[in-house]
Amino acid sequence: MNDSERDYDYDLFVIGAGSGGVRAGRVSASYGARVAVAESAALGGTCVNVGCIPKKLFVYASHFREDFRDSTGFGWTTPEPSFDWSVLLANKDREIARLNAVYASLLSDAGVELVTGRARIVGPHTLEVAGTRHTADHILIATGGWPSLPEIPGIEHAITSNEAFHLKELPRRALIVGGGYIAVEFAGIYHGLGVETTQLYRGPLFLRGFDDDVRTAVAEEMRKKGLDIRFDSNVAAIEKVTTGLRAVLEDGSSLEADTILYATGRTPNTRGLGLEELGVEIAPGGAIVVDEFSRSSVPGIWAIGDATDRVNLTPVAIHEAMCLARTLFRGEPTKPVHRDVASAVFSQPPVGCVGLSEAEARRAYPQVDVYRSRFRALKHTLSGSSEQTMMKLVVDRASDRVVGIHMVGPDAGEIIQGFSVAMKCGATKAQLDATIGIHPTSAEEFVTMRDPV
Ligand code: FAD
Repeated sequence: MNDSERDYDYDLFVIGAGSGGVRAGRVSASYGARVAVAESAALGGTCVNVGCIPKKLFVYASHFREDFRDSTGFGWTTPEPSFDWSVLLANKDREIARLNAVYASLLSDAGVELVTGRARIVGPHTLEVAGTRHTADHILIATGGWPSLPEIPGIEHAITSNEAFHLKELPRRALIVGGGYIAVEFAGIYHGLGVETTQLYRGPLFLRGFDDDVRTAVAEEMRKKGLDIRFDSNVAAIEKVTTGLRAVLEDGSSLEADTILYATGRTPNTRGLGLEELGVEIAPGGAIVVDEFSRSSVPGIWAIGDATDRVNLTPVAIHEAMCLARTLFRGEPTKPVHRDVASAVFSQPPVGCVGLSEAEARRAYPQVDVYRSRFRALKHTLSGSSEQTMMKLVVDRASDRVVGIHMVGPDAGEIIQGFSVAMKCGATKAQLDATIGIHPTSAEEFVTMRDPV
């Protein structure tokens, strides 16, 4: 540490105590840095409060309806199940409060100072939070993102995922607008909870960026469950009517709902931070432009997580945080790796995938072999459900390397997490073939698919 560093209040000042900020603060402190983290809302950020965690709890809640029905084929008779939204909300809120407290102790146990309030950078190495100035050798922006809404008449009547976690009452009819994973997940949640659900997406097929077979399979399965999914369809205006909300569509038709949830994208939370004044380069969509080490265009200012709009997932924000801590305070410049990040969509049925879609692989490699299987899982031979599982391997023929693994079906996220390790290790198709399956599972299909399609 040189003398100028000692003149600052902190070695690192983190703005945002979400997935990335908390990890960067804790790990940097464990390397001996003097760290403060500013947070203007609840500790844990999006993931803990209005993202991954409450969302997955809602997905669990909503799947029971199908589970009760499936159980009858196995001999169970249950009284007509009923659902109490207020119990789910209260239990979810209690769990989130517990996690908020866990995050507070994680920071304090690591010796990180928590500064409560909205932070703004007011000069080189200088920030202001709630009227108090702080200085730091390094400033890390980990401010996440925020739902973005289109400017259409009546949009003030719509909610976003932020509000969806706190609705006082479960709507009877819900309209979900959007085609990304958050929209698809909420459509499944509402439908599972017994809400009459319609999902609208302006493009021809939702889950853009995922493998086309995945996208088609999810749409088919969701429709089979009774969801009203409409593609190439968009809302022109929203009107409040006596019976609820009316969405007037671009084709002139309309539909009514009690709740209209927009999940049409998220914008990096970078406005009002004082970045423009300092000359920090910002991309047109609002993301902070960073180099491979998460360094912004201004020395001493770094950014990670959704604020940089690279791969907007919690484990990626955490990975970027750990790399940055190593770079800054351990003398080991470390670039985060954004290749082959496994991910899941907690749709119903869920998606798990890692690596390239078939279309991406065909662009990247001269010859690609595709292995695909669609089948009814063993459980559904008795449950009576017609739900199909889809599994797919994408292989570079020249090297035999597996470059993409995709699944739509129960536990897809759990299964793909394991296979992503194999892919990270450079697994070939021959190595998958040499692996003995676990019988009877769905996952064994990944090591028994022999003939390319
Ligand atoms: P965040 O976690 O958003 O934290 C940013 C923090 O900064 C916030 O607490 C905010 O209050 C604070 N802040 C902002 N500005 C200031 C300021 N000026 N001063 C002080 N504090 C400030 N990811 C997954 O991996 N799996 C999932 O299943 C998943 N599900 C999701 C579901 C939903 C509905 C949503 C919205 C997101 C989901 N995500 C999921 C994405 C995941 O939540 C984000 O990628 C992750 O939270 C990003 O972490 P972050 O550290 O960049 O920002």
